Amino acid sequence: MKARPCKYCSEDIVWGSTEKGRPIPLDKKPVRVMVDVNESGRVDDDEPKLKSVRGWVPHHSTCTGVDQARSDKAARDRELAGDRGQR
Ligand SMILES: [Zn+2]
Repeated sequence: MKARPCKYCSEDIVWGSTEKGRPIPLDKKPVRVMVDVNESGRVDDDEPKLKSVRGWVPHHSTCTGVDQARSDKAARDRELAGDRGQR
């Protein structure tokens, strides 16, 4: 994954895609987190069975320019809705 600066906060980000194929911006540096792998599927608060995995934090969570990014996206969405309305 090639890092590029975020256009809203200029932090380096990388792009991944979700299971559904949607592109998603991520913080460049992977983090290690513990996930619950309890086979019963039941959440056991007393003694969760944990596994360490590597992952990336969605950049939306850490971007300092997220408000600007959201309003740009809202403007784009309005534009798209307007285009559809004219046809
Ligand atoms: Zn950013």
